[in-house]
Amino acid sequence: MSKVYIIMYHYVRNIAGSRYPGIKGLETSDFIRQLDFLEENGFSFIRMEELLAAYYESYELPEKSVMLTFDDAYSDHYTNVFPILAERGIQGSFFVPGEIIDRRVVLPVNKIHHILAVEPDHNRIKEDLLKMMDHYRGREFSFPDNDELLLSYEKAGKFDDPETTFIKKMLQYALPERLRDILVDELFKKTVCISPEVLWDELYLKDYQLRLMKKNGMYIGAHGYHHYHLKEAGKDEMREDIIKGLDVLGDSIDRNSWVMNYPYGSYDETVEAEVKALGAKMAITTLVGVNDTETNDAFTIARLNTNDFPPVSEKYLNY
Ligand SMILES: [Zn+2]
Repeated sequence: MSKVYIIMYHYVRNIAGSRYPGIKGLETSDFIRQLDFLEENGFSFIRMEELLAAYYESYELPEKSVMLTFDDAYSDHYTNVFPILAERGIQGSFFVPGEIIDRRVVLPVNKIHHILAVEPDHNRIKEDLLKMMDHYRGREFSFPDNDELLLSYEKAGKFDDPETTFIKKMLQYALPERLRDILVDELFKKTVCISPEVLWDELYLKDYQLRLMKKNGMYIGAHGYHHYHLKEAGKDEMREDIIKGLDVLGDSIDRNSWVMNYPYGSYDETVEAEVKALGAKMAITTLVGVNDTETNDAFTIARLNTNDFPPVSEKYLNY
């Protein structure tokens, strides 16, 4: 038996001195301190190939294994993370939503992050959103009234206060998709004073950077196409999104043995069956915990957040 710690990262940058100091992420200096901590405290960095071999070829992993995963293909991962990992000989696994490469668009999830980062008063965003919802209700879109939605969705989340959770859920899946896009774009335009094209260029890594990272030993995995809550999508839409996401990644992944990382950790039996049918050999979730290759299977891979480890906290000790 060996414990496998898988750490989840999103933004890794000099946040305090950046254009968006309100963005939720890890300071690059803390990333370096985190790697130092792991190296000095008996953790062994493993590669994705080793984890797959542990599941499929009885490969024996070191006792306290750790693997690093980076979601959403931010330019941070190329500029800040990749050189640091390459210098230390550590593999990172990078999960790419296909649409950002294919259509050069900013995903709604990232527009939402920036709206929330630029306007610290989330109650104000919520009030704006509710007014906009009233405006569109009954015109082209039908959805429940505001009080009903507030009652169901305005609840504290794991990382967010109730109003922030409400905003995210409305804009991520609770409202009709075309309306969500309209509302996100309106809020983005009003709050974040930058064009989506400029943000796209700043925010995401490019396909040639991805190929260079792969060539230098990094692992590339799938993260859907449009970054949907796959569990909430219809079956055909869900399948199409996964396939389109794989298509964009081309040679960067092996279609007979690839690793899925569910956007928002959203999956159910149907989604799991679909990724298996499409050749996935493993699925990374947002289940919170430490893995044991003997007790949890390759399709329920749990993770801890970077904030669960020093220098941010010592919560990892609870698992
Ligand atoms: Zn994601």
